[in-house]
Amino acid sequence: MKTEQTKRRIVVIAGRPNVGKSAIFNRIAGGRVAIVHKQAGVTRDRLMKEVSWDDKRFWLIDTGGISSADGSKNVDAVQKGIKEQVEASLEGAAVVILVVDIEVGLMPLDLEVAGMLRERGCDVVVASNKADNSDRDKDAVEFDRLGFQVFPVSALHNRGFEDLMQVILEGLPEVDEVTAKTPLRVAVVGRPNVGKSSYVNRLLRSDRVIVSDIPGTTRDSIDVPFVIGKGAQARHYILIDTAGIRHVGKIDSSVERFGRFRAENSISNSDVVVMVLDADVSPTAQEKKIISLIIEEGKGCVIVVNKWDLAETGKAEHRLGLLRAMPFISHCPIVFTSAKTGYSIRRTVDVIDMVAAQTMLVIPTGILNRTIVNAYSKVHPPAIGGKMLKIYYATQVGCAPLRIRLFVNDIRIVADGYKAYIIRILRDQFGLEGAPVLLQFRARKNERNPRSRIRKK
Ligand code: GDP
Repeated sequence: MKTEQTKRRIVVIAGRPNVGKSAIFNRIAGGRVAIVHKQAGVTRDRLMKEVSWDDKRFWLIDTGGISSADGSKNVDAVQKGIKEQVEASLEGAAVVILVVDIEVGLMPLDLEVAGMLRERGCDVVVASNKADNSDRDKDAVEFDRLGFQVFPVSALHNRGFEDLMQVILEGLPEVDEVTAKTPLRVAVVGRPNVGKSSYVNRLLRSDRVIVSDIPGTTRDSIDVPFVIGKGAQARHYILIDTAGIRHVGKIDSSVERFGRFRAENSISNSDVVVMVLDADVSPTAQEKKIISLIIEEGKGCVIVVNKWDLAETGKAEHRLGLLRAMPFISHCPIVFTSAKTGYSIRRTVDVIDMVAAQTMLVIPTGILNRTIVNAYSKVHPPAIGGKMLKIYYATQVGCAPLRIRLFVNDIRIVADGYKAYIIRILRDQFGLEGAPVLLQFRARKNERNPRSRIRKK
């Protein structure tokens, strides 16, 4: 069944294990990297990178495989795992690269995956990998049976990618329909003096950032629209409520530019919040409160540790310190910047984009339910008052924030620890960096309801 959905500038790499998906991923993404996003899947890491080819930007997703991770030789399990990984990655994908192995030839599993992609109505190109020399190219003919255009390539020897990529780029929508439709609203918040104004100024002056206008609304509140890139590739943003933008260093830092009311307002008006911290100062109670607020409001969150030029510790150590002080930020990406030197300022935009994309993730119901069934069978909920929680069915009911509704036998016996466990599993499976996840529990009386898909085994 073809699903009608908004196509985004997303290219997905699919195929059975060991055909060279990762090598192809690296070949396409290599050296031009914006973000490496390692998503710990139940089965294997899923990689996602924003890359550009011929100056055209898109997201590249490697769906991984499963046999390498769990060592399973069970063909059914491998097939099921690959299909799940691929399905989870297909949302919004414009083009799928189906990778096959020209040395091994056409395998039944290649046909299976191709069939599934066709059913889903995906635009597919086949990359027959390991075509290390032109003699090999002719062997690609047998993959015509897959029913898609075939390109012999060699990730190892960097052959064939120009032709493959040309067709892929033609298959991408002119603009990422989701981000192009409405500008992304970004709030930059934090205590006074952490470098918010310096960060914003640095960002707006950086390469390829075009500030279209600076309309002041009130003396304290300014929304600044800006664009990155040109023409059809342009991405639009609004920095909201960025007071102080023109006054770096001029305003006395004792002036309270960040009251609680102010923070609440900018947070609730935004899509993604950039929380700026000072690398030189441990997180304060006020900062912890602001971050809790961002999470409570269900907003995407990026932590920016500014003044990194002054830091004396390593990033890993600093990150650990932050996580120890604020365990509730474990899902948020952390970027180390220096507004003074410009270090990693543009990278924050890539991370903002990534978080925005994660808040918009749509998880197919089948995959969501399988994930929860697995989670449930691995760890049962604690019995409360002698009664055991049963989860019948789960479905995503909203994006930004991601809301998942779970139908259960009794909402009064949902333990907080079990909620946290389910959220952790969802993050492991689907990434969801920086994106809040809300679980809504609903009671369903009839346990024998035919739609019940999840029950205690
Ligand atoms: P805001 O109150 O959060 O907007 O902070 P400002 O942008 O006004 O910066 C506060 C002070 O920190 C100023 O003196 C800046 O020059 C300084 N500052 C900002 N960013 C950096 C940085 O990355 N490194 C260093 N060393 N100083 C910075």
